[in-house]
Amino acid sequence: MADEAKEIESMIEIAVYDTKTYDREFLVRAASGEPILWRFHEFRLSADTAPAAQGAKAVCIFVNDQADRACLEALAALNVKLIALRCAGYNNVDLTAARELGIAVVRVPAYSPHAVAEHAVGLLLSLNRKIHRAYNRVRELNFSLSGLVGFDIHGKTVGIIGTGRIGRIAAQIFSGFEAKVIAYDPIPMPDWANTYHIQYTDLNTLLATSDILSLHLPLVAETRHLLNSQTIATTKPGVFIVNTSRGKLIDTTALIAALKSGHVGGVALDVYEEEEGIFFQDLSGQVLLDDELSHLLIFPNVLITSHQAFLTYEALSEIARVTIKNILQFDDGGPFLEGTTL
Ligand code: NAD
Repeated sequence: MADEAKEIESMIEIAVYDTKTYDREFLVRAASGEPILWRFHEFRLSADTAPAAQGAKAVCIFVNDQADRACLEALAALNVKLIALRCAGYNNVDLTAARELGIAVVRVPAYSPHAVAEHAVGLLLSLNRKIHRAYNRVRELNFSLSGLVGFDIHGKTVGIIGTGRIGRIAAQIFSGFEAKVIAYDPIPMPDWANTYHIQYTDLNTLLATSDILSLHLPLVAETRHLLNSQTIATTKPGVFIVNTSRGKLIDTTALIAALKSGHVGGVALDVYEEEEGIFFQDLSGQVLLDDELSHLLIFPNVLITSHQAFLTYEALSEIARVTIKNILQFDDGGPFLEGTTL
């Protein structure tokens, strides 16, 4: 008994917020034999739920946890020293406050960019070729093809906004369709673009000439509502928009107006502006209180998935592996894996 207590005492206690069964499964398996004591919480981190990290040295969070200043102050008061994001995006953490409070922040910068890029293309294909509607129809023994006309991606202009890890793979996949792929990124990668015959252009030209827009940029103050009523008005009539990045990159009210007017031809979303508290939850049987999401869901030319682009075996394994490595390296006093600290 005493040995067991000693062993537990020497372990690194981690409070894991917003945990689903797959998080537990992959984290527990990857940490086998490591001195980590997991404390899994299904609820998300916020200033209100920070006290559940009592006794933990680190908290492990995901995309919709809210590590704002008030929350970080509460964590600092509990002596939490590390926030380990099990995702790439970090817009939900107040990095300035974390630095001031002496809380290190680490993330998993790249787990499987293929998972997200492949999902973006998969969403576009389903939406354009109406596979989601055909699936339901055929199950009802309705074998009619009326209303299921799509378009070839071949020969279309695909505009990739953000050519980081995910955007580059999405661009390469679209090139495989023999689409004309153009891209905008404030930090272009000309060698890569030459290799894959991708043309960089400015954002205005990209918006005005793309038949398909795919967003692969981070959410920061400057990119919030990148697609708004003004910018959407400059896009090509009938444009298809794919967003697997962050919901707040698009002004939902403006998007709905453009769908209603018919200016936007189709929208595939894996992320939604107000997804927090909705996505990742089973709300079936409940009343959906978000009017804009309800509205989006009834458009026949809108396809929404619930932030699942990352959800592949390969990505979850890598998230668990890097998260555990980050935690252990922090406990050893660093240094962190290159690129994981913020
Ligand atoms: P990354 O950091 O590798 O690349 C982002 C790129 O965007 C960079 O090249 C950067 O220069 C560029 N960029 C920055 N500001 C820009 C702007 N104003 N206009 C155009 N480009 C700009 O990031 P990544 O790993 O490729 O991730 C891309 C997005 O995907 C992020 O928003 C991330 O949060 C999101 N993501 C979503 C999921 C999901 O499951 N849906 C999973 C992982 C990542």
